[in-house]
Amino acid sequence: MMDATRMRKAAGASDKRSTKMFVESATKYYQTRTGSVHALDNVSLEVRDGEFLCILGPSGCGKSTLLWSMGGLHDLSDGEIRLGPEKITRPHPEIAMIFQDANLLPWRNLAANIALPFELKRKPVDQERIDALLKRVDLWGFESKFPRELSGGMQQRASIVRSLSVNPSLLLMDEPFGALDAFTRDEMNLLIQEIWMETGKTIVFVTHSISEAIFLADRVAVMSARPGRIKSELRIELPHPRHYTMKTSPEFSRYKAELTEQIRVEAMKAAQLADA
Ligand code: ADP
Ligand code: MG
Repeated sequence: MMDATRMRKAAGASDKRSTKMFVESATKYYQTRTGSVHALDNVSLEVRDGEFLCILGPSGCGKSTLLWSMGGLHDLSDGEIRLGPEKITRPHPEIAMIFQDANLLPWRNLAANIALPFELKRKPVDQERIDALLKRVDLWGFESKFPRELSGGMQQRASIVRSLSVNPSLLLMDEPFGALDAFTRDEMNLLIQEIWMETGKTIVFVTHSISEAIFLADRVAVMSARPGRIKSELRIELPHPRHYTMKTSPEFSRYKAELTEQIRVEAMKAAQLADA
């Protein structure tokens, strides 16, 4: 087995794409009433233009903290995050976020929910783009439905339409399919892969599922237990488009064994932290 440093070099070396986002020595402490929580420790990570990067780590290791910081929703205690040359300290129009919860407003129908980002920015609604996206994710004709009338998968598809409607170049997804049943999750994985291939967007996708990470990613960055660090990086050399039958292939199993080994130790440390 390769050591972590060699793995990181191997994972990055063959990629000639330009840097989309750079996380430089990101450290984060949360101040709470009972003391400070060290969530991120000196995390450096390069996101390449057009890549599908998965961030994999046990629960509580700082994945959301890292992703939210990349989206300009959290301040860092130290270090910085840049989109191209621009330092990210607040939400940026090029960056969209998708969460585990679709976050649709229950009193608005689908059309009104999707129009919300335009209202907030006081911009005319790009109906042509929205209609194309609705058709793309099979929600065409559901515009007048309210969130409670839609399944979890449909709500999450609506949130994807909402975030892509303003045409961001970087999509940050925080365990977006974690609350869906296994079948719907597989379907959503296929859909997001297709959208990624069609649009050339850069995607950073947080998950604690090893197979979801292998299925989707160009590259997987494994995080250590809290305080979160990048423990290793692994390039996934499976051709796209990927089909879920690939999950039973020997190559897929090899990646799974490798990542399971990487993450097993961290998950155990995380469990001890939770017990303490
Ligand atoms: P993950 O997404 O990997 O599960 P998080 O980034 O949500 O991890 O959390 C990392 C650590 O920081 C956890 O120990 C969590 O309890 C703590 N944490 C997260 N948000 C806050 C907050 N707002 N205040 C205090 N501690 C927090
Ligand atoms: Mg999280």
